[in-house]
Amino acid sequence: MKTIGMIGGMSWQSTIEYYRLVNESIQKKLGGLHSAKCVLYSVDFAEIEEWQRHGEWNKAAEALVGAAQGLEEAGADFVLICTNTMHKLADAVQSRIGIPLLHIADATAEAVRRAGLRRVGLLGTRFTMEEEFYRSRLANQFGLEVVVPDAEDRQTVHRIIYEELCAGAVRPESKALVGGIMNRLEAVGAKGVILGCTELGLLVDAGDSPLPLFDTTRLHAIAAVDWALS
Ligand code: GLU
Repeated sequence: MKTIGMIGGMSWQSTIEYYRLVNESIQKKLGGLHSAKCVLYSVDFAEIEEWQRHGEWNKAAEALVGAAQGLEEAGADFVLICTNTMHKLADAVQSRIGIPLLHIADATAEAVRRAGLRRVGLLGTRFTMEEEFYRSRLANQFGLEVVVPDAEDRQTVHRIIYEELCAGAVRPESKALVGGIMNRLEAVGAKGVILGCTELGLLVDAGDSPLPLFDTTRLHAIAAVDWALS
């Protein structure tokens, strides 16, 4: 079994899910007392969030590169960045380490394709929904047609992620708001919804959505197990 390297803490609420999912999946596949070999480098999310807000992506990149190099030195065979947003820096990280990085958008897009869907809604932080690094990877490398909510709904999702989910607050009124946003994505022709933020699966599940959900946390963790066992 290969050793999974995780850059986590963005936020720790979702990193717990990664740890649980990789271990559950290994146990299911190998049985008995098997569990995942992994190394976790967990950052202080307050620093990361401040750099994001101020556009200081070079500082964030240095932190992530340092974390990834630490994981490589500690024996990781490959690396996961356990957040969608910070994949803005995926190329910068990959270029400075000697082990592969398993991209969260690739694991997700492959699942969307397996489900036979093309036009999908994308929910995440404003960085993920509005910038090119994530959407164009889905479009250019996997042929997906990505639709995002309108500006007001994007702001709502972004606020719920940073002010609530990353702080450990799961509120029924926010669940209802995100449910409404998913209904509006269906109305503009989305056939599925990518939960493109690793905390969103803590808030909503299949019962809240008229459309099939693609939870990036789960898909990334399961793809990591496939790599670890290949
Ligand atoms: N975990 C979130 C994501 O998947 C947001 C936190 C972050 O900005 O990294 O994008």
